[in-house]
Amino acid sequence: MENLKCFINWLFPHRCIACGGEVDEDSLFCPKCFSEIVFIDYPICKRCGRIFESPPSAMHFQELKDCSFDICESCQKYEMHFDVARAIFQYNDVSRRIIMKIKKQADNHAARICARRIFSKYREVFENADFITPVPSHWTRLLKRGFNPANIIAAELSKISDVKYSNFLKRNRKTDYQKNKTTIERLTNVKEAFVCATNLEGKSVIVADDVLTTGATLNECAKTLKTAGAKYVACVTIASASAKTG
Ligand SMILES: [Zn+2]
Ligand SMILES: [Zn+2]
Repeated sequence: MENLKCFINWLFPHRCIACGGEVDEDSLFCPKCFSEIVFIDYPICKRCGRIFESPPSAMHFQELKDCSFDICESCQKYEMHFDVARAIFQYNDVSRRIIMKIKKQADNHAARICARRIFSKYREVFENADFITPVPSHWTRLLKRGFNPANIIAAELSKISDVKYSNFLKRNRKTDYQKNKTTIERLTNVKEAFVCATNLEGKSVIVADDVLTTGATLNECAKTLKTAGAKYVACVTIASASAKTG
């Protein structure tokens, strides 16, 4: 039996979910990626779930409640329409590599592992949710890429959590890439970019995407869902960038 297991492992070696290098049966990351990956841990911004750029002061620690913390500068400054956003990894080279594998290769294995982590870490987000929906891609991007990574993550999360999958969010228009834009520019770039024709009166919805940077795209999705009647919107992503302390 042990020999058979060794043979199967030799045929199908376990791979690091970031770089694809060979790893032990129980490891998700190779030693190099493991040394660089940053797991998101509390204290985080209560609203957007991002790690603070600079550690909070001792006084702030006294206010620590529900294992979460304060509100970051961005969530104080801009009107956020989602109730919470949560991610499992800080956005850096390693988490970017995981996301690129899902984006470029439709790597369901990496997506499934990340979905499991999101679900086990933030189980309360899924408890009373009615639907899970991906951030939609514009059809021209779908044509170019062939699939939407947010869709793969949302589908895996739906399977694990038993929250019903639905893609009722649609892109109204094509938007510029958000990269290299300021928060204001990002908010403007995605303004009214989504539509939802479904009546979501009183429903609780989870929106899935690969990464949250400033939160502009997810915020616009949440605004669209709330306009459609949703009472609660939570966003979940694989990674999120760090936030400034408020
Ligand atoms: Zn690796
Ligand atoms: Zn925040």
